[in-house]
Amino acid sequence: MPEIRFKGDSGPVRIGTIFCIGRNYAEHAAELNNPIPKQPLVFLKPASAIIHSNSQIILPASSQSVHYEVELVVVIGKSVKNISADEANDAIMGFGIGIDITARDIQQKAKDKGHPWTVAKGYDTFAPVSDFVSTGDIEHPQAIDLSLSVNGKIEQHGNTRDMLFPINNLIAYLTTIFTLYPGDLIFTGTPSGVGELQAGDRLLAELGEKITDLSVNVISG
Ligand code: ZN
Repeated sequence: MPEIRFKGDSGPVRIGTIFCIGRNYAEHAAELNNPIPKQPLVFLKPASAIIHSNSQIILPASSQSVHYEVELVVVIGKSVKNISADEANDAIMGFGIGIDITARDIQQKAKDKGHPWTVAKGYDTFAPVSDFVSTGDIEHPQAIDLSLSVNGKIEQHGNTRDMLFPINNLIAYLTTIFTLYPGDLIFTGTPSGVGELQAGDRLLAELGEKITDLSVNVISG
């Protein structure tokens, strides 16, 4: 079953639902010509899409344009419903760095037709995540750098302070709709600089100053 791992001694955590937030950084919304949302834009990824560091993203033959999106990923630590942003801190078990892999051409067709993004976001290997760290390892999660380099060149570099909807507000908003359970993940949106993957690419996603990182290669399906 899909699970995440923590750095250090604590055992793996089984993954529940994977929530993803679209357009949570103004510069990224602008680069794809999308309006800034008035409330969080939420979609889901299947847990079957999870892979870990030192594995491979498989480019599906059915897409000609697969993009990377580096994102802070939150793992939930307890069951919560209808909580306030002030209460949201207590619901977090830890943080990791992930890449929301997206078949952009398939997503664009879905957008044009008003169809869901499930296929564009949901292929196997489309949710690489690092090992996670506990909340005590990050003093200010709302002011932390995240970056992605492709073949050794930095392509995305952002800071969580630029989120349109901060982490605690995202959690509070999600709990107005969904009960969150331990092991649920939240991909919190990507800063600008997204781009296309090619077979043979080597990706390194990093959270903060050596807090945790994720290294994956890209191959053709
Ligand atoms: Zn994303």
